[in-house]
Amino acid sequence: AEATPETRKRVLLAKPRGYCAGVDRAVQTVEEALKLYGAPIYVRKQIVHNKHVVSTLEQQGAIFVEENEEVPEGATVIFSAHGVAPEVYVQAKERSLRAIDATCPLVTKVHHEARRFAADDYDILLIGHEGHEEVIGTAGEAPAHIQLVDGPDSVDQVTVRDPSKVVWLSQTTLSVDETMETVARLKQRLPLLQSPPSDDICYATSNRQHVVKQIAADCDVVIVVGSRNSSNSIRLVEVAVDAGARAGYLVDYASEISDEWLAGATTVGLTSGASVPDELVMQVLDHLAERGFTDVAEVTTADERLTFSLPQELKRDMKAAA
Ligand code: SF4
Repeated sequence: AEATPETRKRVLLAKPRGYCAGVDRAVQTVEEALKLYGAPIYVRKQIVHNKHVVSTLEQQGAIFVEENEEVPEGATVIFSAHGVAPEVYVQAKERSLRAIDATCPLVTKVHHEARRFAADDYDILLIGHEGHEEVIGTAGEAPAHIQLVDGPDSVDQVTVRDPSKVVWLSQTTLSVDETMETVARLKQRLPLLQSPPSDDICYATSNRQHVVKQIAADCDVVIVVGSRNSSNSIRLVEVAVDAGARAGYLVDYASEISDEWLAGATTVGLTSGASVPDELVMQVLDHLAERGFTDVAEVTTADERLTFSLPQELKRDMKAAA
């Protein structure tokens, strides 16, 4: 019998989802470097925080390392989208590495802000997750001026030299709402706290959170495709649950979805983090369709058109080789 509208199981597919401009550029940088210089190409840290992307590039000849010292002298190294502290460029020079910087321009922007406020002798409160690569890179711009604030509960530990000369900056992939809460608490303690000259949380992070918030209340379950070390993907699960989904799950692949999660659900929300290729989302759609979730509606809340050009140093060599 044909399913009645009440029993038809549906998927609300969020848009925007998946690749942002910075990830797209970083992945392309590795691919183009492999074409131009040949394998192996070394990549310091995961180019973007996605298991599938990393293993695909590995198969093409990329070798992922943690530090420059693992890269043979004179070889090519690519720095990941999350950015690096200035000392990492210095180390690369010392080892005569050909360094290509795939840092997202929106992360570089935060580095510039950090340098500028440090030069003006501000205390900089960097809101972000302790130990995240991006935070390590940004803090490395001015370690003496920057202190990390890891969420609203860390606000009480903050101490500054001059309460009239303090600014907050942030990691690009945080929860928008939680960051606003952290800032509100900081402002209670430091009424003269200045805000960054422009949003540090990037357009891709806020757009993906915004759309998942729109669909979550109508969903029994929200599935986010993304890796466990992907900050922006983890935030999407949190935002979905805060916005009313009964449950939220993070998966790298469709095969990780347990039938138990779907039991009794009539509406499943689906989205993906900024480092996730859309083919993985399509595989989840197939997986859901096999389980009766055949009615797919895409919910769009923003139109993203931003793209970034490849790193200068790579473009120059590509031109010379053409
Ligand atoms: Fe750049 Fe934002 Fe994408 Fe990070 S999530 S790479 S900051 S665009």
